[in-house]
Amino acid sequence: MKIIMFSVREDEKEAVKAWEERNNISVTTVGEDLSSANIDLVKGFDGLSIQQVTDLHDEAIYKKLADFKIKQISLRTAGYDVIDTEMAKKYKLTITNVPAYSPRSVAELVLTQTMRLIRHFPSLESHMAHGDFRWRGLVAREIHTLTIGIIGAGKIGSTSARLFHALGAEVIAYDPVRREELEAVLTYKESQKEVLEASDVVSLHVPIDLSTINLIDEEALNQMKPEAYLINAARGPVVDTEALINALEAGNLAGAALDTLTNEQGVFNQDLRKQELPDDLEKLMDRDNVLMTPHIGFYTTEAVRNMVDIGLNNTVEVLLNGKSENEVR
Ligand code: NAD
Repeated sequence: MKIIMFSVREDEKEAVKAWEERNNISVTTVGEDLSSANIDLVKGFDGLSIQQVTDLHDEAIYKKLADFKIKQISLRTAGYDVIDTEMAKKYKLTITNVPAYSPRSVAELVLTQTMRLIRHFPSLESHMAHGDFRWRGLVAREIHTLTIGIIGAGKIGSTSARLFHALGAEVIAYDPVRREELEAVLTYKESQKEVLEASDVVSLHVPIDLSTINLIDEEALNQMKPEAYLINAARGPVVDTEALINALEAGNLAGAALDTLTNEQGVFNQDLRKQELPDDLEKLMDRDNVLMTPHIGFYTTEAVRNMVDIGLNNTVEVLLNGKSENEVR
């Protein structure tokens, strides 16, 4: 069995090598994203693993893969919107993803950004960059005195809740699906509104779908306390960016930490030093109560290893058994 793996970053290579040795299966790695320009590289391989940001909605790609007798495409990511699932079906390609990889990776970023926000780091750092080392007015609150609101207590939300609970914070959550075992670390509320109204820090961990686009809009932001912080390490469109900028400018919110942004594609993980930034990003980055990170929540050694291992395991499962528990339907 031979597998070809596209979009392989340097930091994935060690995990790929270890997987090859454990499984005695050969994996050829390619740095570029899979596209119609390099599709012929797949010829002669049995399995295909990808992880890309560029779109794969070109029928010619699916046709070629079928011609090359490829049976599956394994994504090393949770999201699979780069794939045309109808095309995949037409050409009998089984698509798999990696639905969960180290929830700690994102939860620890959320904890880090919460601590940085409540200690006023964005403000302090911006003053210090200009030689102003005064701290008057920047008195911080301690984490164990705060109420942390989790919207969406799934894998990442519940892991974040456990971390905050361990530090003595009171954790409240809204999730239509309740898990009894979480009641040891958090208190469920009946509505999102109740969580927004009572929290000092609100952290979003919902999936993206039609019902969660702009979940945090002007009305929701108005329900938050003016001294509260908002954290979005879920997906950009969950927050209405314009409404957030307005709330920050009006002083209706103490600050925010964003690891994702609507329209982040083509911006995050790109070198834009010689280019103008999108307006909304520029406005957010100019503020001294906002922390931006370029969608790096997932980027830890453990999560990268999980994505490689699960992605390659899914490939083998489909090739050997024709199915996988991580099949995208
Ligand atoms: P999950 O499916 O385990 O949990 C999502 C939870 O949200 C579920 O419990 C669900 O019942 C709940 N939910 C759904 N709609 C809701 C709503 N309207 N209000 C409240 N709760 C709602 O997902 P997860 O693996 O924990 O991922 C959470 C988010 O984190 C996703 O958006 C995912 O894309 C994102 N994510 C970000 C990064 C990153 O690098 N920043 C990495 C991985 C995942």
